[in-house]
Amino acid sequence: MKYIFGPVFSRRLGLSLGVDLVPHKVCSMDCLYCEVGKTTEKTLKRAEYVPFDAVKAELEEFLSYEPDIDYITFSGYGEPTLFSRLGELVNYIKENYPYRLALLTNGSLLHRDEVLEEIREVDVVLPSLDAVTQEVFEKINRPVSGLTIEMVIEGIEKLIKMGTSEVWIETLFVKGMNDTEEEIEKLGEAIHRLKPHRWQLNTVARPPAYDVRGLSFEELERIKEKVGYPATEIIAHSRARRKKMPISEIKKEIYNLVTRRPCPVDEIASALGILEEEAERVVEELLQEKKVEEIFFGSTPYIKGKV
Ligand code: SF4
Repeated sequence: MKYIFGPVFSRRLGLSLGVDLVPHKVCSMDCLYCEVGKTTEKTLKRAEYVPFDAVKAELEEFLSYEPDIDYITFSGYGEPTLFSRLGELVNYIKENYPYRLALLTNGSLLHRDEVLEEIREVDVVLPSLDAVTQEVFEKINRPVSGLTIEMVIEGIEKLIKMGTSEVWIETLFVKGMNDTEEEIEKLGEAIHRLKPHRWQLNTVARPPAYDVRGLSFEELERIKEKVGYPATEIIAHSRARRKKMPISEIKKEIYNLVTRRPCPVDEIASALGILEEEAERVVEELLQEKKVEEIFFGSTPYIKGKV
């Protein structure tokens, strides 16, 4: 499979099948923290960056097995709304399959009515909003020339007003960039005004494209308290989760997870937001207690809960 990947577990979306609609690395931004790498083609031009028919054929093949997944997610190597046939793909999936759709987007094209129309049937849209002032936007997201933060905010506002999708805004905090008191205050005002279904706080957790650092869990918690938006959740920080979650809790969560669906240790770790070594250690205990077993799918070991 070239254009679809996974399914992978994520804490936000459960078991999700990823669809890549732009190649490495086409994007309208070049974020300091990007996990995919530095943007090589910074653009706002929409095009059929990957062949529509090939994506459709891969989906058809994979979905013919009727996999038990929570979402099909448009994400991957760059900004998925740059794919000019996104609307056709959304409609094709919705007309033929029962799956929920999710879209991870940097929000750069949401101000365009035709893009909003195309994503009308997407169940959950997760736009990023890391800044509200042009200065910080340019520092952290390094947008293509001509793209302003007003355009991004206007797009998110239009999407929320359209009311067809759940909207979960993600803000990723980078040390020394968007964590000043002033920016947080303005961000908070924007979030209270926009009223997304969820506001998700994240920080640098994987190797970033540029040399930047993230915030601690305590710092994210302070931002959450300061802004005081009710539907806020911190989605980052394995260390924080570890500190907050006793081993017995982790054990219970892993057991619940693998009883629902067998999964490899790295997916368990990412689903729970804990370190892989920690997941390994707890899985080992569960294996010894005979609460779970190891099964193989191909050459990959999966952990499966015994009921
Ligand atoms: S918008 Fe997303 S894909 Fe594009 S550079 Fe930023 S983090 Fe990377």
